[in-house]
Amino acid sequence: NFDVLIVGAGHGGAQAAIALRQAKYEGTIAMIGDEPELPYERPPLSKEYLAGDKSFERIMIRPAAFWVERKITTLLGKRVVAVDAEAKLVRTAEGEEIGYGALVWATGGPPRELPGEDHSVFGLHTVRTRADADRMMAELPEVSCAVVIGGGYIGLEAAAVLAKFGKHVTVLEAQDRVLARVAGEALSRFYEAEHRAHGVDVRVEAKVDRIVNETGRVTGVRLHDGEVLPCEMVIVGIGIIPAVEPLIAVGAAGGNGVKVDRQCRTSLPNIYAIGDCALHVNDFADGAEMRVESVQNANDQANVVAKVITGAPVDYHAVPWFWSNQYDLRLQTVGLSVGYDQAITRGDPAARSFSVVYLKQGKVIALDCVNATKDYVQGRALVVDGARPDVARLADASVPLKEVMA
Ligand code: FAD
Repeated sequence: NFDVLIVGAGHGGAQAAIALRQAKYEGTIAMIGDEPELPYERPPLSKEYLAGDKSFERIMIRPAAFWVERKITTLLGKRVVAVDAEAKLVRTAEGEEIGYGALVWATGGPPRELPGEDHSVFGLHTVRTRADADRMMAELPEVSCAVVIGGGYIGLEAAAVLAKFGKHVTVLEAQDRVLARVAGEALSRFYEAEHRAHGVDVRVEAKVDRIVNETGRVTGVRLHDGEVLPCEMVIVGIGIIPAVEPLIAVGAAGGNGVKVDRQCRTSLPNIYAIGDCALHVNDFADGAEMRVESVQNANDQANVVAKVITGAPVDYHAVPWFWSNQYDLRLQTVGLSVGYDQAITRGDPAARSFSVVYLKQGKVIALDCVNATKDYVQGRALVVDGARPDVARLADASVPLKEVMA
């Protein structure tokens, strides 16, 4: 029995425990996670860790001793399969029952798999956990051709790492441009061109028919038009499915994620949800209900829950930000571009340092900044203030963003 039980030892779960102790919370805290590892950073799995530039020790969220010192019990390699909100307990796959005073649900979600495909085939991968990345890394020396299905951030990052390793890489994107769900066309076209310049075969409007395998090993990807792309590795990056079934099964509101109020409470008593699985109203998307899959969102919602549990409640109102590293390009984003009606490019993409400013009815809602940290830092205030700058000044890269309202 624990005063606070956190399900999911990832970004949100770890930060909830850290923030509770920072707030001098003295109750008992346990974190239960189905992976064998202590909490680690997930973003490097498609970047520095996959590239071999960072060891596992360097991506751990805290060293092992930290959890012991802060009296945070870590129950690893255990999966919660059921919740009893009335009895205030959870049940693990092994049938163990653990009671709680408050439950923090921070489970993220498993990667979506290709419908109708057997994902246990050797060479077919998704990237969510350290184990996923380790399996890919172990196979890489034998791989000469790889196909990435899905032109989102994770797929493109993995493609960049593999291209740097000298692999022949094809990226298949079903929509008419990469990053279509998260960015404007200028950014999509820029990244398509960058990948092509690095030898990656980027194909948009590409429809996958099936994965071809022989004796349990991937040998290629067949497209709808019958073409087969031979390869030894396939990486599928097509999003996640929020891991919320045990809550929905006992009546929590939600579906694609579990619904939370502004203080991250689910509709079930004493149960909170944070991070990738939390369906919340986001102030930076005109109050739209959404899930946000980012470290920022997981950490900031964790901080909110810690405040609510320690009796100093605040509403979730954090500015969204995100990053992506591909080749020598550092993308930094602030705000949420969903629903933009105007996108202004500042600077010249050909110079490989530029920003895209997204507006909605004249109001700045987001920025994507490529190798343009100054714009990212100064643009944040425009998003926070919902500034309505003069578009000509905004488009003029010689005018610093902090002066654009002058
Ligand atoms: P997670 O960190 O996924 O943690 C959830 C944990 O709960 C997992 O360990 C899971 O196995 C466990 N779990 C699930 N169900 C159960 C259960 N029933 N019982 C016990 N344990 C359970 N974000 C950025 O901001 N920038 C980036 O550059 C970026 N790059 C990324 C690259 C990759 C390859 C991936 C996979 C993600 C990336 N993200 C990035 C997204 C970011 O990692 C997530 O938004 C973040 O990890 C969400 O935190 P979370 O706590 O909600 O979930």
